[in-house]
Amino acid sequence: MAKQSVPPLVPALLAMKCPNCRKGSIFVNKHVLPLKGSLDMVEHCSECGMKMVRETNNGFGINYALTVMMFFFNLVWYIPIFGMSYEDNSIYYFVASSSLVTLLLQPWFLRLSRVLFLYFTVGYRSKTATGNNH
Ligand SMILES: [Zn+2]
Repeated sequence: MAKQSVPPLVPALLAMKCPNCRKGSIFVNKHVLPLKGSLDMVEHCSECGMKMVRETNNGFGINYALTVMMFFFNLVWYIPIFGMSYEDNSIYYFVASSSLVTLLLQPWFLRLSRVLFLYFTVGYRSKTATGNNH
């Protein structure tokens, strides 16, 4: 058997590729738009046949963590641009704009959290070509 080079983890993760072979796509649609169907996952990987759709998808917990992280990450760009003070209403403006940004990014977060969940549970080449998980 010829030795194949392992595709790097992070680019495969960001491209939302199958965690098992890092070649096949996880989602049916390449782009997050249109929103309808943006979370449709392929049943089995087109490259290695790994089963993508899980009965226990734990993406929601990861999505919550990502949302909280993003909310605080917004401080990083908000404070240098707009500044924040306890003497006026700027903290309320921040909460409002940060919520809006986080809300707008939700479609990507939802996808990313599903991808992360798969990468947490599936190692590279850990599944057989039959897609049998047991
Ligand atoms: Zn695959």
